[in-house]
Amino acid sequence: MPRFEEERKDMVALLRERGITNVRVLHAMSKIERHLFVKEPFVNRAYDDTALPIAKQQTISQPYTVAFMTQELDPQPGQKILEIGTGSGYQAVILAEMGCKVFTIERHMDLFLQARKLFEKMGYRIATLCGDGTVGWSEFAPYDGIIVTAAAPEVPDPLLNQLAPGGRLVIPVGDLDMQKLRVVTKTEQGFETMEAYGFKFVPLIGKKGWNGK
Ligand code: SAH
Repeated sequence: MPRFEEERKDMVALLRERGITNVRVLHAMSKIERHLFVKEPFVNRAYDDTALPIAKQQTISQPYTVAFMTQELDPQPGQKILEIGTGSGYQAVILAEMGCKVFTIERHMDLFLQARKLFEKMGYRIATLCGDGTVGWSEFAPYDGIIVTAAAPEVPDPLLNQLAPGGRLVIPVGDLDMQKLRVVTKTEQGFETMEAYGFKFVPLIGKKGWNGK
């Protein structure tokens, strides 16, 4: 039996129990090997429902958070999705596995290089950029969906501007300790905003984010 198959099944069963219903999300998460996105000594904990450390004091998001955000984004096959905060690359691969054309931005060169290598090794064609994602990626805009996987002080306008009509932005907004997940949809009348409950993310650092080195 392939490594960690039982653990992965249990993880997905827990996601269902906790209210994740989107079958395409559940299917992608039962297929993708999360243990490939972390390093020792965390490999054995890859299927626990917790965030785990990666390089540069960043984290791979908790499986439930990935599932919840992806379910809120509700990406359809063939859609163009922009992710801010590549980190380990796990979220980007989940989206690619769901059939999306994925564009992802990471500000740390080390993480960007590692993720890019992993995408290639796993056979996923994902467009990667090293830079400040708070200003989006205008070259390929508009996007059907944008997902920000780091905590923002406010919604960066460039991201709203790069949404296609009907497109959705999923972003944790709040202070550095606690955030609410905001889901903003671009409609003909303007932007519609919904808020989900509290999460904790690492900070989004950049021109339209928090200040940082
Ligand atoms: N989606 C990732 C989660 C990584 S944590 C995963 O699946 O593993 C969030 C990431 O956002 C960190 O790697 C951090 O370096 C990055 N980040 C923070 N501010 C950023 C910015 N302005 N632009 C791009 N990446 C940023």
